[in-house]
Amino acid sequence: MTCADGAVRCVFPILASYVADYPEQCLVTCSKSTTCLKCKCKANDLGEKRPAQDRDPTWTLGVIGEAKASASSADAYFKACMAEEVSGGVPNPFWKDLPYTDIHMSMTPDVLHQLYQGVFKYILDWTSTAFNKEELDACVRSLPPAFGVRHFKNGISGLSQVTGSKRKDMARILLACLAGKLAKPVLLTTRSILDFIYLAQYPSHTDTTLKYMKDALDNYLKHRDIFIQLGLRDDFNIPKFHSLLHYVVSIQRFGTTDNYTTEMFERFHIDLAKEGWRTSNHRDERPQMILWLTCREKVAMFTDYLDYMASLPPVQSTAEENAGNSKIQITKNPSKAGQDLCKIEETHYTTGFSRSLKEYLDSFIAGRSLHENVSRHPLPFNRLEVYHSFRFDRGELGHTEAVPSSRGNKEVVHARPKKGKQVARFDTVVVYVDDTVGESTGLQGESSSSITLYGRF
Ligand SMILES: [Zn+2]
Repeated sequence: MTCADGAVRCVFPILASYVADYPEQCLVTCSKSTTCLKCKCKANDLGEKRPAQDRDPTWTLGVIGEAKASASSADAYFKACMAEEVSGGVPNPFWKDLPYTDIHMSMTPDVLHQLYQGVFKYILDWTSTAFNKEELDACVRSLPPAFGVRHFKNGISGLSQVTGSKRKDMARILLACLAGKLAKPVLLTTRSILDFIYLAQYPSHTDTTLKYMKDALDNYLKHRDIFIQLGLRDDFNIPKFHSLLHYVVSIQRFGTTDNYTTEMFERFHIDLAKEGWRTSNHRDERPQMILWLTCREKVAMFTDYLDYMASLPPVQSTAEENAGNSKIQITKNPSKAGQDLCKIEETHYTTGFSRSLKEYLDSFIAGRSLHENVSRHPLPFNRLEVYHSFRFDRGELGHTEAVPSSRGNKEVVHARPKKGKQVARFDTVVVYVDDTVGESTGLQGESSSSITLYGRF
């Protein structure tokens, strides 16, 4: 392998983790489909509340070996394997002689397919049946459009071919639509599953946050029988639900789930494969695609470098110059020019805006503390330019994407007063003033000084 320092070294890699979807996981680990590939839980016992004994690669190879030795026909061989919940389809698995490899342990959790397209899909199906699909759709349709929430104008029950990102948007609104309309155990189960899904995606974990995951799972296990009582399920023998039992251990062993999410690779499939293919002439395409990608990578790296250089503060910077580097973008011209302050307070429902603005401006005067003698100093102006929206960079996937995405990573926040038939829209934004906070669960336990909530942006 060519290493980072340019030297070529002989490398002996150890297979530690394997990222794949469920059918491939079963194929690779020689596990029977519909069973658990990490433990010896039988297909009919997947509803158990605790995992069974771990599968061991030596044991798996042993089962295949014994079946081979004793079976007189291919049929008998497969039957002997299946009796032990092992698939005999691959008699000589590639990992057989790999040192230090435990193929069952190496299979990583899959947030996209297991949690969103699996567990959440079931929960949505059960709860919407228990509630009433038409009524749930009506609820979803009537939600006001807001920042960070997708507005499903036709409801959600009629959607087919639902993508991962749409499922995530559904997960954000489901509980709010069901609250107060279904029995408490149904809501508790739904909430526990949603808690688990969000906790499983934390970018860092401690023993405390892993304990939250265990608690959420225990809560779900405690209340889930309500779905059987309601006649929506006969049992919980579903591999994706069973896989939840192995999440905490996997995170302890391999780190947080963003290290091995399939989402990133599926996303790259668009940039690295589909777009590359389209730019080629579809003949002997691989070298063309690689050349195209290499070129794009170099451009992306150089753009990153230029952005980095531009982000460095000048030697003698002023507040105005720094504002040019802000990640918040507004349009060149205001949505409403020269608006009267009283009018702004009225149309934006922001009573006390003038006073808050005065306090804010006063805070720049040295030696004067906030709220001190504010009212004695009138504002030197009574009109303002008003912008009805701004864009900002979420920067969630890191600012150094290998290939710049065509869609970008921008979000828009609206503060739009009522206009004719169009209803007013005021998004809520939570601003972390201090970078060191925000690792807690949600907003619980944060002090008011570290977070400022701007209700009417
Ligand atoms: Zn298991």
